[in-house]
Amino acid sequence: KTRVLTGITTSGTPHLGNYVGAIRPAIAASRAPDAESFYFLADYHSLIKAQDPARTQRSTLEIAAAWLACGLDPDKVWFYRQSDVPEIPELTWLLTCVAGKGILNRAHAYKAAVDKNRAEGEDDDAGITAGLFMYPVLMAADILLFNAHKVPVGRDQVQHIEMARDFGQRFNHVYGDEYFVLPEAAVDDFVATLPGLDGRKMSKSYDNTIPMFAPRAELKKLIAGILTDSRMPGEPKDTEGSALFQFYQAFASKEQTAAFAQAFADGIGWGDAKQQLFERIDAEVAPLREKYEALMAKPDEIEAILRDGAARLRAAHATPALLRLREAVGLRDLS
Ligand code: ATP
Repeated sequence: KTRVLTGITTSGTPHLGNYVGAIRPAIAASRAPDAESFYFLADYHSLIKAQDPARTQRSTLEIAAAWLACGLDPDKVWFYRQSDVPEIPELTWLLTCVAGKGILNRAHAYKAAVDKNRAEGEDDDAGITAGLFMYPVLMAADILLFNAHKVPVGRDQVQHIEMARDFGQRFNHVYGDEYFVLPEAAVDDFVATLPGLDGRKMSKSYDNTIPMFAPRAELKKLIAGILTDSRMPGEPKDTEGSALFQFYQAFASKEQTAAFAQAFADGIGWGDAKQQLFERIDAEVAPLREKYEALMAKPDEIEAILRDGAARLRAAHATPALLRLREAVGLRDLS
């Protein structure tokens, strides 16, 4: 079976970008008969960006409920919270000791932070934590511990998967066996990256999102805030570069999208276009929202599902894998 792994950082409320870019395709992929799916809540990762305990906890619950509401079946896939699996940080250290520092220096997220400091006349590493610097190693551990074959990611994450391959390969080479499968990035060009309300990528940590399960009235208000140009009703509109059109496309069939493009050419007013978009999105998320709200009313049940998922995963995969790796590097045998 092909092992496919997807994580969402518990850094805020899940949004339409997470739904379109990760949750919806991951759940569809998990139904393929030859797939073994791993879905996790990346709460160690969230500490890099959001050092707000209440936010992390709320986000963990919300993202778990979002996966479940969208049809994840915890009996058929591996569903767990990263910090419930202590083998992940332990493997992170083993990999840290084979990871080239020069490779980490080139990681996009770290380089972007250094560039920002330079532009502002600060020291290169001002305000940058070792957590941000080491983040690709933690991500490599997430993937390599379970010997995942495929990691569906956006283009911006391809570099991190290459790093995971590099660290895995070095470990295999140094310790002389095929301990790790080398993972591949699966970039799906049909999966959209949704823009946020400020025009940057929609992202939990930018606070520019449309929450996946915003109540109807709020959803409508947020959609009204999507950026458009100032063309008047009756003037033809460009679909190219239109955030509104990108959203519509992500929630509509080919035929519906073609009709919407025609309406743009015919000069639909932005108010009408936003109303149509709202109806389209609401039609898809309304049934999920109901399930989500019911789940959020029972946090203990969500918690029990997560704990059970991690316990089973540790017994089946994580603990035996780590015993073998400890032995490989010469640490005390715990078995
Ligand atoms: P953070 O700000 O903490 O990075 P995020 O909301 O940008 O959060 P992640 O939790 O890092 O997203 O990513 C989870 C998944 O959601 C990834 O598979 C990512 O590709 C997808 N995703 C995130 N943002 C978008 C977006 N705007 N459009 C499409 N997919 C997205």
